Amino acid sequence: MTPAGAREAGRRAKRGPVLRLKRGHPRVPSHPWIFKGDVADVTDVEPGTVVTVVDAAGRFVGRGDYNPRPGLCCRILTWADESLDAAFLERRLAEAVARRATGEAAGAPTLGRLVWSEADGLPGLVVDRYGPVLVVQCGTLGMARRRREIEGALGRVLGELPAFNKDEDGPARLEGFEPAHGWAGRVGPATVEVGEDGVRFAVTVGAGHKTGLYLDQGENRRRVGGLAADREVLDAFSYTGGFACHALRGGARRAVLIESSPEALVGARQNLALNGVAERAQLVATNAFDELRRLERAGARFGVVILDPPPFARNRTQLDGAVRGYKEINLRAMRLLERGGSLLTFSCSHHVSQTRFEELCRDAAADASVRLRVVASLTQASDHPEVLTIPETRYLKGLLLEAM
Ligand code: SAH
Repeated sequence: MTPAGAREAGRRAKRGPVLRLKRGHPRVPSHPWIFKGDVADVTDVEPGTVVTVVDAAGRFVGRGDYNPRPGLCCRILTWADESLDAAFLERRLAEAVARRATGEAAGAPTLGRLVWSEADGLPGLVVDRYGPVLVVQCGTLGMARRRREIEGALGRVLGELPAFNKDEDGPARLEGFEPAHGWAGRVGPATVEVGEDGVRFAVTVGAGHKTGLYLDQGENRRRVGGLAADREVLDAFSYTGGFACHALRGGARRAVLIESSPEALVGARQNLALNGVAERAQLVATNAFDELRRLERAGARFGVVILDPPPFARNRTQLDGAVRGYKEINLRAMRLLERGGSLLTFSCSHHVSQTRFEELCRDAAADASVRLRVVASLTQASDHPEVLTIPETRYLKGLLLEAM
């Protein structure tokens, strides 16, 4: 081998497996996702391990987790020439936690999202804190294979808190790993009680939607607490009553909760009792579409209405139907508002943009013959940060509207 050849071989060995991009792949410096169609070639590499990404000319781009199974085959974790080892993981975790430790109390918040995947430079990893426990979600094979390292790094950054693994089935199937569900090591409490601005929630660790609560709505729930005094409140798609509990603790005269899932309603009853507000709440176990229509026919009026439906569009082909669904519930909700009343309306569908959402609300208002002032544009809580060049990190859209 010539000396130059030996140097090149040495460099290659240090780099490990290499993924070479096709010419003209434009997004790579600002967006971590590489799809199969972007790849010119890739050296033999075990699924779920690290590759060095280079451009068409062989120049270093970054380093990320590779998995040939899904179309999105590589997610870049770093654009620096550093190794993705335990020390790297610990640094990133510590940064994510420090970013959130901005309140008056020192240290990271005891309820909220501590790590949010791409938005924290750790694609495929979510870590939420519920008081004395952590809930960890791995969404890529690369992160799932690092589970032990993640546990160790979390222990060093946050102290030894019991951690519950709650992987989602969908991403695990797509990436080809067995979703973990259970305590990582030390067994923690089966249920925990957490506080959100003085409002108490009971969470059964490992059960329910998301990692236990819809943490992304935390700031909007607090907002409702401040709007609700002396008003009648309608919490549609209430889940375990998060908005209703804030409203009632904020002095609402009454709250009506609409929810179709019996398990969610059990949680709602428990949370209402925990906050001492159950006697001012009415739970309606039914389809919100039907109940909104019935309330409208009955001439009901509310001072605050919250519409926080599940994603009606799970993919692009469902978009038109989803828009019709959103428009229908918004139209009904708008007709239920008393003068000066507030509507907080949301969409968490990735495929419905903020513009599309505002458009459909405008159409709904026109059809309902009501005028509404836009008080604020609403979004996901700040512990779910948005990265400007990764539009996929913004998914929760909302408006706070006031009936004129
Ligand atoms: N606002 C809640 C989260 C709502 S999630 C919070 O802050 O915690 C959406 C909820 O809508 C889920 O609990 C789901 O069970 C419920 N849901 C879905 N479709 C429904 C329907 N057609 N009618 C009533 N509830 C529905």
